[in-house]
Amino acid sequence: MTAKLIKGTEIREEILKEIEEEVKQIKEKHGAVPGLVTILVGENPASVSYVTLKIKTAKRVGFKEVQENLPENVSEEELLAMIDKYNKDDSIHGILVQLPLPKHIDEKKVLYAIDPDKDVDAFHPVNVGRLVIGEPKFLPCTPAGIQEMIVRAGVPTDGAEVVVVGRSNIVGKPIAIMMMQKGRGANATVTVCHTGTKDLEFHCKRADILIVAAGRPGLVKAEWIKPGACVIDVGVNRVGISEKTGKPILKGDVDFDKAKEIAGWITPVPGGVGPMTITMLMKNTLNSLKYKLGLL
Ligand code: NAP
Repeated sequence: MTAKLIKGTEIREEILKEIEEEVKQIKEKHGAVPGLVTILVGENPASVSYVTLKIKTAKRVGFKEVQENLPENVSEEELLAMIDKYNKDDSIHGILVQLPLPKHIDEKKVLYAIDPDKDVDAFHPVNVGRLVIGEPKFLPCTPAGIQEMIVRAGVPTDGAEVVVVGRSNIVGKPIAIMMMQKGRGANATVTVCHTGTKDLEFHCKRADILIVAAGRPGLVKAEWIKPGACVIDVGVNRVGISEKTGKPILKGDVDFDKAKEIAGWITPVPGGVGPMTITMLMKNTLNSLKYKLGLL
């Protein structure tokens, strides 16, 4: 059996077109566009490239984009004052602080200062709480992207056995909560595995949908996959540098080459879950404006 590839690069294009279209319609009818501010502290190359991509994507879909680049030695107070300013700015619907922050700044204090109604990363405890009680306002971006891929690929979730490997606050925990809720692309029976799990292979073998977010290259072997299962590989591991391009070689957490012969659906790395995260950030920013206009 050869699995169907769930390509994040293609689904991203579909969703960005939908967002772009909706932005145009809202602008025409309501005279408003979603506003996103990206706050970058310092010049960490990975952070600079993430922010650059976020800005480029926001512009592409027609958002108002405000870019704040602060020096590495900015004080916590100054950063908090900037967040306060954008919390009060009616033309801004999403505030994104690029992580990690320098050591002298308390990351939690900064993230928790963002108005939960503009918290398009959905890291604020209010948004985590909303998610847990089944009344989310914003879904965290990577898990939202995973769920969207499952839905758009037509993978049945109702009553499915979902196994999540990893329990981080940004991927494992929220996707487990989302998949167990009632509703679209969910209503599944969920098991969460981690380093305390006694027999990882046993659990993976039971999964109709296996979501792996461990950050361990090749952790999940092909023999652990139930024939026909949907395998979502969230892991992004740098395993070397390509001699040809000089760029990092990326591998997922699943033994992709063999797993694709057994699974029913599988996501590649790169080009799978990766492109979905920024896409869902755009969706959250659009939704933030829609909430404000009473359209949601
Ligand atoms: P994390 O915070 O390091 O969490 C990893 C989780 O995996 C932990 O819960 C850990 O268990 C579990 N784990 C690690 N090794 C394991 C093993 N051998 N057996 C069972 N469980 C194991 O990582 P994260 O932030 O969730 O990210 C996970 C991966 O996804 C990384 O490769 C990251 O780069 C990638 N990622 C990709 C995207 C994207 O594509 N957009 C976004 C976010 C993350 P314990 O809790 O017991 O330590």
